[in-house]
Amino acid sequence: MFTLKTHGDLKYFTIDEFSETGLLKHCFTTRCGGVSENEFRSLNLRMHSEDKKENILKNYEIICDEIGVDFKNLVFSNQVHCDTILSVKKEDMGNGITKPQKWDGVDGLITNEPGVPIIIFAADCVPVFFFDKKKKVIALVHSGWKGTVLKISAKCIEKMVCEYACDPADIMVAIGPSIGVCHFEVGDDVADIFRDTFGDSVLEKHEKWHVNMQKAIEIQVREMGVEKIINADICTYCQSDLLFSHRKTGGKRGVMAGIMELK
Ligand SMILES: [Zn+2]
Repeated sequence: MFTLKTHGDLKYFTIDEFSETGLLKHCFTTRCGGVSENEFRSLNLRMHSEDKKENILKNYEIICDEIGVDFKNLVFSNQVHCDTILSVKKEDMGNGITKPQKWDGVDGLITNEPGVPIIIFAADCVPVFFFDKKKKVIALVHSGWKGTVLKISAKCIEKMVCEYACDPADIMVAIGPSIGVCHFEVGDDVADIFRDTFGDSVLEKHEKWHVNMQKAIEIQVREMGVEKIINADICTYCQSDLLFSHRKTGGKRGVMAGIMELK
């Protein structure tokens, strides 16, 4: 279950099933509790935006201090809606924040090294959290509709199995706040792709077709043998006071982040 934590103005989600293990630090941020203004109000973590750099860095400091992560060590992905997932290590710390971004297109990060904080970004796209508490492996992926159709979450499980000897039955998968089927209207072409890939159950007919990306992610990780799935079931568009939504704002927005670090 995703629980909303509050500390003064700061609000962020944690995942109960992850917290209970005591093995990692993690969160999914909201838009509340930062110092940014206007469309970036207020906890904007979008590094390459027109927001003031000093405000963005302050926002990083605020949320990372809260969860006990050194923001200067964060390992950034470089999201391009692809299905590339990288295993990262200590030597990658600071990539994209205190060191130049060295990757072209990376939408998922995995590590089994303690003290290496990984981060992915979302504002309607689906942030997916993976945790194998037996093998002590964490992963994060950014799954927009393209990544969802490319089955980036299934590929993440595959990589955790191949490279870290994880058993899918031990991997918990948590699907974070993202645009829900209530608001994710698509054209017929995209609806057809989802139907061909996942079947009719991921579509709803409103005036136009609506896609349930979260369900498509559940289907693909269940096919890989995952049993434990935690779905936040929170729509970013419906809760745009709490969360940044790309669609609701026509793209004038900041971004939220999923952050994880093994203790
Ligand atoms: Zn909605």
